[in-house]
Amino acid sequence: MHELGIMTGVVDSVKAAALEAGATRLLKVSLSVGEMTEAVDTALQFAFEALTDDDPFTKGAQLEVKMIRPCSRCLECGAEYEHDRFSMFCPECDGFVTELIAGREMQIDSIEVDLPEE
Ligand SMILES: [Zn+2]
Repeated sequence: MHELGIMTGVVDSVKAAALEAGATRLLKVSLSVGEMTEAVDTALQFAFEALTDDDPFTKGAQLEVKMIRPCSRCLECGAEYEHDRFSMFCPECDGFVTELIAGREMQIDSIEVDLPEE
């Protein structure tokens, strides 16, 4: 499963960051995911749960996924436009020489953790 590979990397880096910050528990992770990654929200949730469930540090943590629409720039006329995963042609000039400028990201926006009481 594609999403399991993605989430393994995300959970690893989030855990490392939370531990580094001195957290006692991971509460929530917010991700931005480009549609061009072909990752599916429900599959990401499933993978996240599978990866966090057996560790008391991450068990019960929430995952928030924001999907990002793909966006391209036409190299023939310079138009920038949103599109879906399958049709990337320029709506202005029908050009097909285009550059993807958004939609492939997999970015951790923020994490929430529990910190020990002083
Ligand atoms: Zn164009």
